[in-house]
Parts: sequence; C-alpha cells; structure tokens
Amino acid sequence: MHPNRDGWFSDGNVPCDPVPPLSKRPLRMVLMGPPGVGKGTQATRICKSFRTCHLATGDLFRNAQCEGPATPAMKAALAAMQQGRLVPDDVVIEMVRERSGCLKCQGGCLLDGFPRTVRQAEALDQMLDEFGAHLDAVIAFEMAIEAIVARLGGRRTCRSCRAVFHETSNPPATPGICDQCGGNLVRREDDTPEAIRTRMEVYDHESRPLMEYYDAGGRLLRVTADGSPQEVFNRTIGCLSSFLVPSDAQRAPNHVAR
Ligand code: AMP
Repeated sequence: MHPNRDGWFSDGNVPCDPVPPLSKRPLRMVLMGPPGVGKGTQATRICKSFRTCHLATGDLFRNAQCEGPATPAMKAALAAMQQGRLVPDDVVIEMVRERSGCLKCQGGCLLDGFPRTVRQAEALDQMLDEFGAHLDAVIAFEMAIEAIVARLGGRRTCRSCRAVFHETSNPPATPGICDQCGGNLVRREDDTPEAIRTRMEVYDHESRPLMEYYDAGGRLLRVTADGSPQEVFNRTIGCLSSFLVPSDAQRAPNHVAR
C-alpha cells in the first residue's frame, strides 16, 4: 500500500500511514517537463516501481485551495497559480523546507514540479546537503508543443485522489469517474487556453536555465515523452536503471533516452 502523503500535505511532521518501508538505497529524484507532458501519469508509475513517495508542489497548492482559510502568503501563492504564474521562490522554498521531513524519508521521494527555478534548485541542494543526502537523478521529459496542446485539451484529474486521466489516451472505465476512488474527474482550472499559454512561456523562461544547472552537474536525464504511457514508462525505467549505477563516478553525463 502506498503512503498517504499526510506529511507532505501538512508540515512534514505528521507521519504517513503506512510509514514507507526502509529502502536499502532511498532514491531522491526530480521530475521535470513542460505542462501536459505526462509527468503526473509517469510519476505515479515511477513511484510504484521504486516505492518512493510522490511529492508534487502543485498538489500542495491545490490542496490548500480546497482546505482554506489561507494565510496571506498562501493567498498570494494561490492567486499566482490561478493565473498560471509561478508562485514566488521564497514562498515555495519555505513550504518545502517546512516539509523537509519528507525529503529525508527512508523510502526516498520523487519531487514533481519542484524545483522550477535555479534558485529553488540551489535551495533544494542546500536542504539535502544539510542531512548528508543528494539528488540521484533529474528526469526531464521532452515533447513538441503541438503534441502538448493536444494532450492538455483532454486531461482530467480526480478531485479527491488527484489521479490523472485523459479522455482518449488514458480514459477512465466510466466517463467522469475516477477508477481508483470513484471521485469526480475535473478539468484543472489552470488548463484553460490562456493559463496554458502563460505556463508554457513561464516554463521556457524559468526552466531552461534549471536544466542547464542540472546538466552541468551530470544529474540530468533527458527522456522523450512521445508514445503511450507504458512506452514512456519503459523508456524512463530503462534509462534510469543504467543511470543509477552504484557510484556517482561511474555515471555518464548528458544521458538522453529516445
Ligand atoms: P503543477 O501542478 O506542477 O503544474 O503546478 C501548478 C501551479 O502551482 C503552477 O502553475 C504554479 O503556479 C504553482 N507551483 C507549483 N510548484 C511550483 C514551484 N516549484 N514554483 C513556483 N510555482 C509553483
């Protein structure tokens, strides 16, 4: 059974249920890619395969939106999110720092949507360094813009458990209903055409330098995200397996999985 991410949705001090099993080598990974590339779907599969926890900052903000009442900082963060803008670095970094217990987790973690800027990446490196850990891999999914727009048009997310479906490529058994928990499937409010355009621009401006940052450190693993979810997953796992060699010194830089 997968941990329920209670720590992530509160402040990192609330233990998950069940507590993740002790991993011989807890993997800490980051998942990157433009909106609509299929990060959510792949994150679920990767986490199941490596038994890591899925820690998405976007889920944190969406969760806070449902919970309310929000603090002024959180209100500003949610307003930025609704307009498709990035939440200010200081706010995001503070929220992740509050949850550093999740970064230390004995089961490892897959960060999704964080870091988004070089400043956030530097803050993450510093947090991990404080408890003697490091990132094992940064997976960057890549895809042409036209394909992304087509994907986003049909994306639906479960209001309750956040599972991600697609009307044509990954439909639920019953239209509008989540296969996993029976919750209602909705179109995310930042999947409107205006917000999508802004998010693509933001991704180009902010995340390209981030990829250069990780590439320079030999931690970047580029994976083409074309094909079915299963094909992308197989490609990712194949490439990760050769990337995650026992010693960092044996790791080949500039990995590209096509
Ligand atoms: P996502 O689900 O990752 O696409 O995130 C949804 C929205 O949450 C983004 O469009 C941002 O407004 C906000 N957000 C999530 N993670 C971050 C982050 N690391 N830095 C800034 N804003 C973020």
